[in-house]
Amino acid sequence: MATVLVVGAGPTGLALACELLGRGVDTVVADRAPGPAAGSRALGLTARGMEILHWLGAAGELPRRAVAAMGAGVYAGPRRLAHVRARPQEPPSVFLIGQAEVEAALRDRVAELGGTIRWEHELVDLAAGDGRVTAILKGPQGEARHPADWLVGCDGAHSTTRSLAGIAFEGDALPQTFLIADARIDWDRPADETAVWLHPDGVLAALPMPGDGQWRITASLPEGARVDTDRPEELLRRLLAERRGEPAPRLEAGGPVSAFRVQRRLAARYRSGRVLLAGDAAHVHSPSGGQGMNLGLGDAHNLGWKLALVANGRAAPELLDSYAAERRPVAAATVRDTTALTEAALSDRAAHRLLREWVVLPLSRTAPVRRQLMRAVSQLDTGYRRGPLAPATAPGGRALELLTGAPRPGDRGPDAEVRLPDGSTGTLLARMRGGWSLLLFGPPTPVQRELATGLRERLGPDLRVLKVANSTKTANTASWVDELLVDHCRAVRRGYRPARRDAVLLRPDGHIGWRALRGTDPVSWLSALLDRGAVR
Ligand SMILES: Cc1cc2nc3c(=O)[nH]c(=O)nc-3n(C[C@H](O)[C@H](O)[C@H](O)COP(=O)(O)OP(=O)(O)OC[C@H]3O[C@@H](n4cnc5c(N)ncnc54)[C@H](O)[C@@H]3O)c2cc1C
Repeated sequence: MATVLVVGAGPTGLALACELLGRGVDTVVADRAPGPAAGSRALGLTARGMEILHWLGAAGELPRRAVAAMGAGVYAGPRRLAHVRARPQEPPSVFLIGQAEVEAALRDRVAELGGTIRWEHELVDLAAGDGRVTAILKGPQGEARHPADWLVGCDGAHSTTRSLAGIAFEGDALPQTFLIADARIDWDRPADETAVWLHPDGVLAALPMPGDGQWRITASLPEGARVDTDRPEELLRRLLAERRGEPAPRLEAGGPVSAFRVQRRLAARYRSGRVLLAGDAAHVHSPSGGQGMNLGLGDAHNLGWKLALVANGRAAPELLDSYAAERRPVAAATVRDTTALTEAALSDRAAHRLLREWVVLPLSRTAPVRRQLMRAVSQLDTGYRRGPLAPATAPGGRALELLTGAPRPGDRGPDAEVRLPDGSTGTLLARMRGGWSLLLFGPPTPVQRELATGLRERLGPDLRVLKVANSTKTANTASWVDELLVDHCRAVRRGYRPARRDAVLLRPDGHIGWRALRGTDPVSWLSALLDRGAVR
């Protein structure tokens, strides 16, 4: 049986281990630390990040424990420049929960799946040969060779894997230093809204955390400025008073203040032979917008099913190149956008300030821009339309897609509530059970049957054929359908906008692989994906 060594037990490595173990791949996680990391790091779990945790069976208590961020305000001193708030019926774009809790939930899931995390095992060297990769791991008993079929470096920004594989990490650091601290603060700010104060010395942000009166404070310092981080309460009080232009509230620091420089870097490649990179090992960027940890979860979710297919001998290794082709552009866009956001917030040039305060912030109050912003932060619209796995459009297909506004191959398949024939409710993505799913709309037809049979020949039990009907009365199911889903609130139809007798094939990461509107042959598409790792 093929084996995978995951280096690094941060959120990316743990999520990847869940993906692989859940798909029957023999996986070991090694981390040089003596145990789980504590301390303040990422706080924002995007809606897509939470969806991925559900997908992995690792969400546990997190949705209940997290603060659902429903709004944000931008201020200059006490003056409010902009304010956005989700409507009560809108789902949150971001959940605020500490990275340590997310990692704990993922570790629990790794244990449930029978996986092992080897703490105090540091990757110190790599040796290739005999069609495998051998990691030299330094543990409490000294150095030992650990051969594996594949090695994935999820070992963070200073990745040893990346250096040993000779992959460049291109980019630079922003000149400012950032501070981060958690505190219990006695003030009357809404407990489900984040706030940002713009000040000539830099920005200060306050984010509510789980727990009564708990807040995360981050602040940028001007270039070259030095502060005394040994007295956290004094420092926080001073920053809160200066940047808000109001007396400091009563507060109690929850730990030390950490100082860090923001790097913006992207790995030149994500794969070198049998070695791959994911998470911070492949990309680092400004924490503005809270995307970092989630980007790593997205990498793991994209790589997991592909590596499992390759490791289990069911797809060609070239499929792994589609991982970089799909995920690297997402990381590049995040590096670009978060840099622009950070620079826009930090710039004190008069022209930038005017543009920010009189154009950008007022625009953010308009409904379309507000919706767009919330979608962008949620990461729900991250997709791979231009990637190597999206089928070309047949004549007429593009026009139909534009006309109906239907999601296209590469897009994330929207989730929706459905009713099962026994009357209980569930979600569409949960019914996929982590595999391939063929959604069929309209009454079963011979063409649909042929489609399901052709795909099943290649995918076997990994394919679930799901028939979507408006009610159990109108459902006319067939023996080749695995499950009937009743679209009782029309949420599936609203999400997928199907044409008559449409069919949509969802990949194991919930993105649309193929849909009938494209007019291409799905079985040839699937064969190209599995045999060549590219469909065009
Ligand atoms: C102070 C701070 C504040 C942050 N704030 C935010 C924020 O607000 N929002 C946000 O989205 N992100 C934030 N981040 C970034 C976020 O924490 C990272 O994006 C996230 O941790 C990346 O996860 P990862 O699993 O890829 O890497 P990491 O979490 O860095 O995990 C890497 C793991 O690899 C292990 N390792 C390293 N080298 C080796 C080796 N040679 N052998 C074996 N194991 C090794 C390490 O011990 C570690 O456990 C912050 C980071 C820091 C440091």
